[in-house]
Amino acid sequence: MRLRNITGSRELIAENKYVVHEPELCKGKWRQDVFHNDNPIHIEIGMGKGRFIMQLASDNPEINYIGIEKYSSVLLRAIQKMELNELPNLVFIRMDAEDIEDIFDKDEIDRIYLNFSDPWPKDRHAKRRLMSQNFLNKYNNILKKEGTVEFKTDNRELFDYAVAEAPAAGFNILKLTYDLHNTEDMMKGNIMTEYEERFSSMGNPICKYVIGR
Ligand code: SAM
Repeated sequence: MRLRNITGSRELIAENKYVVHEPELCKGKWRQDVFHNDNPIHIEIGMGKGRFIMQLASDNPEINYIGIEKYSSVLLRAIQKMELNELPNLVFIRMDAEDIEDIFDKDEIDRIYLNFSDPWPKDRHAKRRLMSQNFLNKYNNILKKEGTVEFKTDNRELFDYAVAEAPAAGFNILKLTYDLHNTEDMMKGNIMTEYEERFSSMGNPICKYVIGR
């Protein structure tokens, strides 16, 4: 994502009520301490400006949502949207997902969304890809047994890599398409992310998988 550093974004986020500031203190207690209910928890890692997760949270009040984003300047955009349209079942965290096991306990998460994740094209950076074995092993530790990971991208090379990584980390491919927008059953209820809108309007087919154990 192209980043424009917004002066003071870190400070604004540090005081924001929609952001969980010490997420490690919530480990194992997100339902009770943050959402005050027993509903399932779905997270999006690398949510960018937050359009996807905000629409999901608005459509599904019976699910708790957590949006994770590494950069303050990007997260600030999501916060600004939330200020206009507050959603009680959505909170944000600013962090690198590398540390995700520090903030969620075993079996605490029901679903993980990865949308248009950064490709990290150099081989030596492959471990940073959010759908690499490195990350899938972490997801294995926080996902419920019947939990799923859903990944969308227009980057075919990255998608092929992701499809190959999943079984190696103990996941089965439950659903897969190389052209989401022309796959009726997988398109049902699809919410377009900012990147999805941009790349599909350029004519790029969108790939998607759903994996589970
Ligand atoms: N998901 C959005 C969409 O589809 O429009 C944004 C896609 S953008 C290419 C990828 C986003 O993931 C960026 O905002 C980036 O900062 C975030 N990101 C990348 N690596 C991350 C990590 N390790 N932890 C948290 N966020 C990350």
